Amino acid sequence: MQGLMQDWPLLISRLIDHAERFHSQVEIVTETVEAGRHRYTYAECAVRSRKLAQALERLGIKKGDRVGTLAWNTYRHFELYYGISGMGAVCHTLNPRLFPKDIAWVANHAEDQVLFFDLTFLPLVRELEEHFKTVKTFVMLTDQSNMPKSLPANYLCYEDLIDGGDGNYAWPALDENDAASLCYTSGTTGNPKGVLYSHRSTVLHAMAVIVPDAFNLSTRTILPIIPMFHANAWGYPYTAAIVGCKIVLNGPHFDGKSIHTLIKEEQVHITTAVPTIWLGLLDYLKETGQDLEPLEGLGIGGAAAPAFMIKAFEDFGVNVHHAWGMTEISPVGTMGSMNSITARWPLEEQQKLKQKQGRGLFGVEMKIVVADGSEAPWDGKTFGALYVRGPWTLKRYYRANDSALDEDGWFDTGDVATIDEFGYMQITDRAKDVIKSGGEWISSIDLENAAMGHKDIARAAVIGRPHKKWRERPLLIVVLEEGAVLDKDSILKFLTGKVAKWWLPNDIVTVDEMPLSGTGKVKKTGLRETFKDHKWPDES
Ligand code: ADP
Repeated sequence: MQGLMQDWPLLISRLIDHAERFHSQVEIVTETVEAGRHRYTYAECAVRSRKLAQALERLGIKKGDRVGTLAWNTYRHFELYYGISGMGAVCHTLNPRLFPKDIAWVANHAEDQVLFFDLTFLPLVRELEEHFKTVKTFVMLTDQSNMPKSLPANYLCYEDLIDGGDGNYAWPALDENDAASLCYTSGTTGNPKGVLYSHRSTVLHAMAVIVPDAFNLSTRTILPIIPMFHANAWGYPYTAAIVGCKIVLNGPHFDGKSIHTLIKEEQVHITTAVPTIWLGLLDYLKETGQDLEPLEGLGIGGAAAPAFMIKAFEDFGVNVHHAWGMTEISPVGTMGSMNSITARWPLEEQQKLKQKQGRGLFGVEMKIVVADGSEAPWDGKTFGALYVRGPWTLKRYYRANDSALDEDGWFDTGDVATIDEFGYMQITDRAKDVIKSGGEWISSIDLENAAMGHKDIARAAVIGRPHKKWRERPLLIVVLEEGAVLDKDSILKFLTGKVAKWWLPNDIVTVDEMPLSGTGKVKKTGLRETFKDHKWPDES
C-alpha cells in the first residue's frame, strides 16, 4: 500500500518562491566588488532571478545546459544560483583561485555556454578567452557605468541583460532529480573532477544544515565567508531562503578588518569560513582589542579546527560549530555539536570534543574500514578509511563512466578517521598525507594542531619525509609570529605530553608563507616539493 500524500518535487526555484512570500522584506547585503555596500530584499532578489532566467532563455540556454560563474559572494552571484538552476540549466561555479589553465580545462570539460564573471576577473577571462572552447557569451556582473570600454561584442553587461525582462516568468516544473549545479574538486591529484548536484540533493542538504544541532540558523543574520564558488558555500544560499536569514555577503573582502566591520555594522549572528580566514580575524582582534558582539555561532570547516582557535572564539562567547565535509557530499557531512549527554560535560571537555569533526547529519551514513577490509569498531581509537553514503553524496563524477562507489553503495572519502562511542568522528589525515613511521601511523593534523598552540608559531604544517630506519618521519614546517626566532627545543618541549613521544617531529623548519590551495588549505604537495631533499639532523 502506498501513502496518500502529495508528490511535491524538491526544486531550487521553490526556495526563492518561499523566500519571496514569507520573508519578502528581509535584507541581502553585499560589500560590492565595485565599491560600497549594496542592500535589497528577498522580494527584489526573486524578481531579478526571474529576469535572469528570462535573459538566459533569450541567450538560447536550454534545460541541462551548463552556465559558468566566476564570482565572489555577492547578490548577483546569489541571483545566478537561483536564476540558472531555477530555469533548468546547471549553475557551474568556477573557482577563480585555481590555476588559469585548470579554469579553462574545467569550463571546457563542463561545456559551459555562457560565463558570468565579476569585474575582478576581466584580465583573467581575457587571458583565457581563446582557450574557452564552448563559451559563446561573456557577461560582466556589473552595471553600464562600470563597463570597460572597447570589449568584443560578445561581452555583455549583467544589469542591461536582466533589464530586458519583466520578471513575469513561471519556473518550469522540473524533475527533482534533474541536475541543478556543478562544482569541480580542486584536483590536487590529476584533473579536477566534476560533482553534479541535483535539485533534490541540494534541497535535502539545505534542510539538514539548518537545525539547532547543525548551524542553528533560524532567523539569524549570517555572513557566509565560505565562497559561493566552492561547494555551494556549504549550502547557505539555499538554507537562508528557507528560514529567512538576513544574509551579509563579503564580496572580494576576506581580511580580518573587513569581516569584523561587517559583523559589527550588520549585526551578524553566524559566520562560517576555513581556519585560514579565522587566523586573520583573530590577529585583527588581538591587534585592536575589539570584541565580537553580537556574534553567536562561528563555523569552522574545510580543514581541522585547532584547539587554540576553538578556545579563542569561545572565550569571546561564540559557539564554535566544527564541521567536516567535501565537494562530493554537497558538502556538509558532520557537525561537532553536543548531544544531550555531552552537553552536560564541563566546558573544557566540550571544547576538547569540538576538536573532533562531529556526528553525521541525518542523511549521512558513515563507517570506518581498516586494512583487511573489515569495519572498525566505534571506539575513538581504531582508525581507517572513512566511507559515507546518503542522498547528497555523489554516485558518479560528471562525465565519468564508472561509479564512484563500492558495490554496497559506499563512497570512499579519501580521509582517514576514527569514530567514538558517542558517534563523534575525528579526521586523522587525508589518506595521502598520513605519515607511516615504522608501520604505525602518525596524524599530521594532530601534530599541527598541537604546534599551533605554541606562542611563536603562526601557522604549522607537518609532512612525512623518508627516513632510513623508520621509513617515514614527521617534519614540522612553521611560519613564525612576527619578531619570533626559531627555538626548536622550546617547540619540542611544548609538544611533549601533548602528542605521543614517538610522534615528535624529527626536525622543524621555517617558511615565510604557507603555500595555500584554491580553497585556502595548506598545499602539502607544494611543501613536499620544497622539502624533498631535506636532510634529517642525524643524516650527514
Ligand atoms: P578540496 O579537495 O578542493 O580541498 P573539499 O572541500 O572537497 O575541497 O575538501 C574536502 C576535504 O577537506 C575533506 O576530504 C577533508 O580532507 C578536508 N576537510 C574538510 N573539513 C575538514 C575538517 N573539519 N577537518 C579536517 N579536514 C577537513
